[in-house]
Amino acid sequence: MRFSRSLAGLAIVGSILTASCSSTVDPSTTGDLASEIVEARSTTTEVADSSSSTAAPADREPQGSIGSDTIGDPLFPGLGNGGYDVQSYDLAIAVDGPTITVRALISIDATEQLERFNLDLIGLDVTRVEVDGRSARIKRTGRELEIDPGRTLYPGENFLLDIEYSGDPMPIDDPAGPAALGWYTEPFGTFVISEPSGAATWFPANDHPQDKARFRFAITVPSDQVAVAAGILEATDDNGDGTTTWHWYMRDPMATYLASVVTGDFAMIEEDPIGTIDVRHVVPIADAERLAPIVARQRPMLELFQDRFGPYPFDSHGVAVVDADLGFAALENQTLSIYDAEFFSPLTPDSFTDRVMAHELAHQWFGNAVSVETWGDIWLNEGFATWGEYYWVEQTGVDPWVGPPGNLGPLVGLAAPNLFDQNVYVRGGFTLEALRRTVGDEAFFALLQTWVERHSGGVASTQDFLDLVGEIAGADAQALVNTWLTDPQMPQLPPR
Ligand code: ZN
Repeated sequence: MRFSRSLAGLAIVGSILTASCSSTVDPSTTGDLASEIVEARSTTTEVADSSSSTAAPADREPQGSIGSDTIGDPLFPGLGNGGYDVQSYDLAIAVDGPTITVRALISIDATEQLERFNLDLIGLDVTRVEVDGRSARIKRTGRELEIDPGRTLYPGENFLLDIEYSGDPMPIDDPAGPAALGWYTEPFGTFVISEPSGAATWFPANDHPQDKARFRFAITVPSDQVAVAAGILEATDDNGDGTTTWHWYMRDPMATYLASVVTGDFAMIEEDPIGTIDVRHVVPIADAERLAPIVARQRPMLELFQDRFGPYPFDSHGVAVVDADLGFAALENQTLSIYDAEFFSPLTPDSFTDRVMAHELAHQWFGNAVSVETWGDIWLNEGFATWGEYYWVEQTGVDPWVGPPGNLGPLVGLAAPNLFDQNVYVRGGFTLEALRRTVGDEAFFALLQTWVERHSGGVASTQDFLDLVGEIAGADAQALVNTWLTDPQMPQLPPR
């Protein structure tokens, strides 16, 4: 059975949509990911010992590198690892209430000679680990999952890590606070908020923006539920046992903290595509008719931003609205920003909901396509998204550029607990507005577009931005931005 109601040009498709779907995987799109071999299950059944007392035997003590248990972020030394570069994560996740059972196929290029290497994984029970079909040993301490493949991996070599694990993921505390981060289970279903450190609560990750990768998700849920993840929906398979598997593909590089899965009792709203961009949202079923026209207000925002920032950087766009307290308004998960339902409540003014939607949408360019090189560069995310938000407000005829009360501190030299402080957002946005007023709209938008073109799919630093300002707008403009970034006093905006 299937229902879909027509509402202002939108189809609201209920959760029973799944029952009528069939597999439509296009093999031509699967070539560059590890999923080709997903069915070629290894016959090796040896279960790697997951106790922390398991070390490599003495006769295999490493002669070469053991990789690194950090990617070297000064503010978050626990995040990420060194010695390799993840190409893709292929995550087959069965969700059963609070429990997930996962098979992860991770395609990795060694960048150093490795006898062992680390991923980040918190909690959960690892039951099998293989590297290129051969059983590997593991050791777990804190968020480190150390893997000993039993042979030397050479620089430039690609290998496939195959991990099975299960358990009830638990959100973790993060110095950036206030919310615990990771995979959440709620009465209505599950969702993910990870920025910056929560991804490792649900998959083994090189958990830092510096190692972006492509993602495939095969999410199995009861057939009366919905499962949405980053990217585009390639197929839904009815497994004939009361469960359905939803196949999502994120073909553009994605930072681990932006990877998102949402499952449960949701309505899926499918809008007409915007050009080639698939548009789908998930919202609480009871609110679907009221929310459909509200989330559709992002269409003109997306069109405006494409005109000013350059093409929308991904294949799909949409939001997930969850009836839960996230500790903040929203998080810009790649192609599927997540929002606390409170910001769509009838009590929330439309203008405020629109600001948040414009902000998260701007992050798809600034934060998601172009990600921070280190977390201390966070104003490149939040300042840019705030500028986009204010620009949207300006376009609606309201002047957003009224100075904040009180001084807002500099944007460099942040500590981990201050990552999402007010100055990062507001002074960050004002910094770009000061640049815009100094160089004019034409040069400013050319600069933003060059920024995205140069760094889309990768990371960039504050220094990279200063360099680009110098290159495009000259030394005076560069000095102005530098003052805005570093001066203990927040400067005054130049007059328009
Ligand atoms: Zn933001």
